[in-house]
Parts: sequence; C-alpha cells; structure tokens
Amino acid sequence: MHDDTRRELAQQIRQMTVQGLHSKMVTAGVSRAFILSENGKIRLSHDELLKPLQAFFELSQDFADHEGVFIGREDGIPTLFFAFVHNTRRGLAQGGLRYQRYGSIAELMEDGLRLAQGMTRKNALAGLWWGGGKGILAIVDALDDPIYTDRNKPTPQRRALFEAYGRFIASLNGLYYVAEDIGTTPRDMAAILSQNRFTTCVPPVMGGSGNPSPYTARGVFRAMQAGWKLLTGSDDLAGVKVSVQGAGNVGVSLISDLVGVGAEVWVCDVNAAAVAAVVEQFKGVHPIEPSEIFALPVDIFAPCAVGAQVNAQTIPQLACRLVCGGANNILKEAADADRLAERKIEFVPDFICNRMGIVNCSNEWMGYLPDDIWISAEQVYPDTLMVLRYAKAQGITSFDAAVQLAAEAACETNPQLSHRGRLITDQLIAANWHNADLHKKPIQLFIPSREETRIFAAWQDASPEQGAEVQTMMTAPLSLMERPHLGTVMSALQLDICARATIQAGSAFPIRRVCASGGDALWLDLARENDVSEARLRQMCDSHVQKNADSLRAHLTQLGVMVDDDWIGTADAEATLRLYRIMQESGILTDEYRVNLSPAAATLLELIEAGEFQIRPERLQRAFVNQLKTTITWSIVADNPWGLAIPDGEGNRFSADFCTIAAAMSSAGWPDDFTPISVGFSDVENLLVWVLPCQLLALRLNNKLLFSNLVVHGEAHVIFRQLLTRNVDGSPVSSALPDDERFLLRSTMVPMHRGYANTVESDILVRRFGADALRLGYAMCMWGEERVFLDEDKLQNARNILRRLQEAVGRLMDGTSMSDPDDDERLIAKQQKFARRAIGAYTRADLNVVSVVFEKSVEALENQSAASTETLQQALQIMKDAFSPLCPFILEKIPSDLNGD
Ligand code: NAD
Repeated sequence: MHDDTRRELAQQIRQMTVQGLHSKMVTAGVSRAFILSENGKIRLSHDELLKPLQAFFELSQDFADHEGVFIGREDGIPTLFFAFVHNTRRGLAQGGLRYQRYGSIAELMEDGLRLAQGMTRKNALAGLWWGGGKGILAIVDALDDPIYTDRNKPTPQRRALFEAYGRFIASLNGLYYVAEDIGTTPRDMAAILSQNRFTTCVPPVMGGSGNPSPYTARGVFRAMQAGWKLLTGSDDLAGVKVSVQGAGNVGVSLISDLVGVGAEVWVCDVNAAAVAAVVEQFKGVHPIEPSEIFALPVDIFAPCAVGAQVNAQTIPQLACRLVCGGANNILKEAADADRLAERKIEFVPDFICNRMGIVNCSNEWMGYLPDDIWISAEQVYPDTLMVLRYAKAQGITSFDAAVQLAAEAACETNPQLSHRGRLITDQLIAANWHNADLHKKPIQLFIPSREETRIFAAWQDASPEQGAEVQTMMTAPLSLMERPHLGTVMSALQLDICARATIQAGSAFPIRRVCASGGDALWLDLARENDVSEARLRQMCDSHVQKNADSLRAHLTQLGVMVDDDWIGTADAEATLRLYRIMQESGILTDEYRVNLSPAAATLLELIEAGEFQIRPERLQRAFVNQLKTTITWSIVADNPWGLAIPDGEGNRFSADFCTIAAAMSSAGWPDDFTPISVGFSDVENLLVWVLPCQLLALRLNNKLLFSNLVVHGEAHVIFRQLLTRNVDGSPVSSALPDDERFLLRSTMVPMHRGYANTVESDILVRRFGADALRLGYAMCMWGEERVFLDEDKLQNARNILRRLQEAVGRLMDGTSMSDPDDDERLIAKQQKFARRAIGAYTRADLNVVSVVFEKSVEALENQSAASTETLQQALQIMKDAFSPLCPFILEKIPSDLNGD
C-alpha cells in the first residue's frame, strides 16, 4: 500500500467514533469482526470494513503484533464490545475490562493495544501463567445516563449491558479472561460471569478475591523501597519526601503505608474532597494543587491517578530522584524512559510495581488463600531490584530492561496449555466466528493430531535391518541455550528429509545424529542472580540445558524427525578429555590453549578443489574458501564459569564448541576407527565458527576430514514491522503528532530469536497445521541461502496442497466414470517425471524444488478425470517414493488406505 493511502486510511480511524463504527457494522450486517496478526501478516474478517483499522495498526507505536483484536455487538445494545489479545504463550489472555468514554476509535484502539501489551508484560514478570489481554466496553451517548454509568447503583439496565458483554466473551471460548478495571466493579463482573466461565475479580460472596487496591498499594510501596535502595543503599523511607498524584483507592492505601514508616507526603487530586479526606485522615500530609505536583521538589514522585502523566511536557519540570507509582502506563511513550534517564531520574516501570491487582484475582480459580497475596506482594521488592540492577549491568534504561526481561518471560509457553490461545483463535476462525449465522465445520480426511503420533510410534518400533550398510548424518550443534523453536530445529528437519530420501533411494541406512549443546547458556540468569555460588550456577545450567534438550526431543518427534535420540545434549566428557590429551601430546596447543589451524587450511583448500569436500549451496562454499585463506588460530577455552573443567587448567573450562567437536569426532569413530560423516547439516553461522575449525582440527590430527559433504541452510527470519519517522532526511518530527502523521511503515526481516520475542515454536505449528504441512511449508520457504523466511501464508498453502491431495485421491477412488487407458498412462508418465525431478533435487538438498514438484504432482492427480484402481495405486506409490521424505505421515496413510487398511 502506498504511504499516503495508508495514512489517509489511518486518519479515518482518528475521525471515526464508536457510534460511527457501530453503525457501519449494522449497515454491513456484521455483528462480529476480528483483526489478527500472525508472524508479521495481518488478517481481517471483513476487508472493506477493517482496511482503515489495518492501516492504523500498521502505523501505530502501540500495535505490537497483537495476536488479535475482536469486536462484537448485539442487537438492542448501542455500543461495541472489544477484546484485545496481545500474547497467549504463557496462558490465555487476561486483563481488566475498561468501561469509559473514548473520543474516537483511534483513542480506544491505542488504549486497548497498549494496555493489553502491558498486561502481557505485567503477567509475565509476575510469573503468572497468563497471557496479556484487555477488554473495552465503550460508553457512548446513548449510555450517558446514571442508570448505565453510576457504578454504585445496581440497575437492571447496567446489568443487561454487562451480561451482553459476557455473551461476547463466551463466544471467544476462553481466549480472553475478563477482570475488573477502571469503570467496572465486582458486581459488573458477576453480571459477566452469569454468561460465561471466563471471568475473574468477582465478589467475595461468589468465591472472588475482593478489592485489590491495598495490595496494589503495598506492591508499589515495596517497589519504592527497592528503588530507594538502589539509589541510596538503604530502603528506609523515614523522612523521605514523596508526592502522590491521585487520592483514590491506590493513592490512599499507599499514603497509609508511607505515613506508617515516617515518610513526608504531599497529595493532589482533581477531586478536592478526596484530598480533604486524606488530609483529615493522615495528620501531616500536605495538600497541593494538581498543577503543582510535577515541579514539586521531592525525592519520589508517585503517579497514582491516570496514565501518561510522565511525558515530554512534564519530564523537564520534575524535581525528584525516583518515579514509582500505581497508575498504568505512567510513561506516555517509550521515548519518555530516555528522557527520564537524561535527567538522571530513576524509574520503576508500572508493570512491575502495580501488578498486585491482577495477581490478586487472576488465580481465583485455584481457590483463595488470603496469605498468597501478601507473599506475592513481598516478591515485588526483589523483582524490582532485579530489573533495576539488570538495567545498570546492561547500561540500558529500567524501562528497556523490564521490557526485555518481560519479553523473554512472555516467550515461555505454558507448561500445561502450550500456546493454546493461538489454537483457540484458529478454531474460532475455522468455525466462522465472525459470521455467527454460518458456523461451519472444517472438512478433513487426514487429521494430523489423531494420526501422526501413532504413525511415528510405528516407525520407531520398526528398527533398521541388522547388518545394513550404515552411514552417519549429523547436524552442526543446535543451541540448547533456550527452548527450541522453528529456527533451532531446521538443520534436524533437513537432515531427516535427506536421510529418508537416501533410504528411499535404496542407499545405506543413515544414523541420524542431532548435535545439540548448551553453549554459553544462562547469561540472563547470571545477571538475575548476583550472589549464587558456582555450584548452584552449574546446577542451574545443567537443569536449564536438560529441560531444553527434552523439549527439543519432543519437537523433533512431533515433526516426524527420526534421530539418534540418546545423542541430544550429550556433553561427551570422555571424548573431550581424550581429544584434549591427544592435542597436548602432539604439541599443537599453546599455553593459552590455542591451536594454529592454518597449516591444515592449504590441505582443505586442495580437497575442496578436488571435490572431496562439497558445500551446498555453492556460493557458501566460496565464502568458506575465502575464510580459509586467512590465518586461523582457534581457542579451546571459553569465558564461562561452568562447563567441563580443563584438567590442571586453573579453573579454565572447555568451550562448548570444543566439546561438541570432540563429540562429533567420537561419533565418527575417532580415534580408533575414523570414518568421515557422510553429510553434515548446518546453518550459515555455524559454517564458519564450527564446521571450519572442525574440519581443520580433524585434518591436523588425522589427515582426514570429519565431514565429506555439507548442506547449509539460511537462518530463520521473520517479518518485522519497522516505523520510520516521516522526515526521512533525519530532521526531528514532533512527538506531539499522532502516529500516522509521524511514521512511515517499512518491513524488514529479523532473525528468529527469543530475545526479540519473535520465535515461532514448531510444536505449536504442528498442532495448528500438522507435521506434513509444516515440513512442506518449511521447504517452500527455503529459497534463500542466507535466510529462510518463514511465512504464515506458505504454511497455509502447504496445508491446502495436502488437502487437495486428499480430495483428489478421494474423488478418484470413488469415481464412477470409466477411465481411459491413455489418460492412465499419461498420469503415470507425469508422476514418474515429477519423481525423477524430486529425487534429483534431494541429491542437491534443494528442498524448495522438491516442494514445487510436489505441488505439480498433486495438480496432475487433480486434473485426472478418472483412473483405474491399479493406475491410482501405481501413481500414489510413485508419489510416495518421491515425496514421503518430505511429507511422510500423509503418504504413509494414503496408500495403505487404498489397500483397505
Ligand atoms: P481511583 O479511581 O480510585 O483513583 C484515581 C484518583 O485519581 C481519583 O480520585 C481521581 O479523581 C484522581 N485523578 C484523576 N485524574 C487526575 C489528575 N490528572 N490529577 C490528580 N488526580 C487525578 O483509581 P485507583 O483504583 O486508585 O487506581 C489508580 C491508578 O492505578 C489507575 O491508573 C489504575 O489503572 C491503576 N491501577 C489500580 C489498581 C488497583 O488495584 N486499584 C491496580 C493496578 C493499576
């Protein structure tokens, strides 16, 4: 879309009111709509209606690839219902329901998007197994009457309104759990709960947890103490000057805690009566005007009223050392954190310190124990200190530190539910949620979740024939530093496809080894836990790596990847010590544990020239050769406090690369019976940092290469939305401008990395698409040498191709029309041609070509009007031989079905 068009569309959203969108939906006959974001792609339920909203999201700083925004309405209710779902990896989306007025849809969206993302961060940093979400019920003119707006008066009209919202939530099947927020009360929650089972913060008489404000205030108080400790070395707030903005539920409880420890307090509120009541209750508290609060010289400023109070306009006025308060979204925008840092004002991000409201009610379903909440409130103190210290250690703002740590935590999938929210969304859309009158059931002949596990178990039982000729295929080390994702498992997936193709072609039975190591795991935990002993740190590393190794095994199994299971994560200490001893004896190690590998480089160059070591694709071979022409000294130690200790090495430890090279050499039978590994699989990065020293070391020690062939794949990337300031010449753009006037949209690809919170888990994709579709989709994405760009559309296309295959087979199987022998012959000839092309492509490890030919082969079946059973059987057998390395499950199933199995 052109920049100006996008901007014009986005501006429509600034002018559109809630009533306006409501009438548009009524006119279009739409009662439910969604906007989803999946791996960088936006999907709309109704293109025409929602295009402006898409443009608005694309230019908004507040849109952070939210999984979905759902909009609903009900006849007879004059407003709209909104549910914002930001991230459901840690659990289903949870956050409060806001009942207030908004000037425009733009204002409402900004609020909902920001608050939902804030909830992901808050829940993740609090360690809750909940994702982030937010609800909005907008007050429109037709609701501007105390029968709807007076939260203290139980009226049937207000109850009916909240019940309608409750039905909307019920339709989302638990994707979003409602909680209380600004404008809503436990009584409203009870009305919502009467229509669904996805509501929290209900009144205590219904088993709820009651008013959370005292606990929220306690959390803010503990965070203040932590902030003060970081600044002064003491957390004693006696005599410390604190200004509190807002004498509401949180503000008053906070003042009570502060006065209790002898702090000197100032308070303001737009409601003068509220201030008067505080001054009356707490002797010595000073009242001030709301406009005076920012410039007041104090030690700590505590915003406890509304959001965005700390911004480009107010920061220059501040005369405090610390900002820490209960309000949500204290900063107007992320750049305000830098503005505070420039003024040397410390900041406790609100999503750490005001968490207690949600902590209090989120776990109501577990059964309520009054002590829980006090224990959790105490946790705010160490968590705040951890974030502030981490920021100092990394040289970043506390806001960035908290965002980073929250993003890491938010990536962790719920141990029980996995990424269930995404599956619920899939099911809603497949069942036509947005077209409530036309519920549909997706047609599926082969249901991966039911069939694949059984088939995999059968493969594992069928062990290879004894005495069959064996060759080894192996991956360069996969990282167990973090929970595996699709980027991690790519080498193993490629290995499996090529190994299956080797067996299918009648060649040697390959042992499939996935080399996986912990690497320099846990830098993050190191930063988190300043005072752990070395023994404890090593224990933590071991269990972290072990957990990820187990997870990798599970991912590979689900993907249908057959591997030498015992081998994953093996830190082969025996092989490492043996290799070290032999290197020492041969005198090639310096005192600094370095080895000069250059002498082997000339031999390796000759072997490459003679075709005895091949790297595919060829272009990467050239990069490898260029690297070989430089001087290569290599260190076998790592700057790690864990890992295998070097004997008599004064506390030095072997690098993870060295250990994995030793393990790989031992896997090739070294030193007694050394047979090079037939094919290695690696990503681009490992090619130079691991494969290269691996080959050179093997040459220096044995005069033999470790790998005879190497297949390299690009690194997994995902699309990233980048907002550029509109003045491309670099001149400043006023931060007072709305986002759509301030930014241009550009997309860029960034590596899939847990630190960027953009990882896509293969196990979740398998649940969504099935392993065959994922394998095929992955092959379709493999056109780049440097990058594999993982595209959601390709996965959907892959699933579609497999559906088309099933439908074509089904149609030909029960076709009643007579087949024409010439047509039959042509079909077989076509399938044979495609099979030959596929087999050729496997030998070049060109999986993208295999995927293209597979689609053609499916097309050929689709274009066949009729076929005899024998012909169909023969055609499917050819397809199975050619394509089961790529999509093993479905092809295993289809021909056996024809036999009536
Ligand atoms: P509240 O409505 O009881 O109190 C807010 C007070 O701020 C009111 O007295 C209001 O008159 C005053 N106010 C509004 N605008 C102001 C301004 N510009 N200057 C001075 N005073 C102003 O709300 P609360 O429950 O105390 O929550 C306060 C903040 O904390 C909100 O941002 C809320 O989202 C957040 N929060 C509350 C909880 C909780 O447990 N109550 C939990 C998490 C976050």
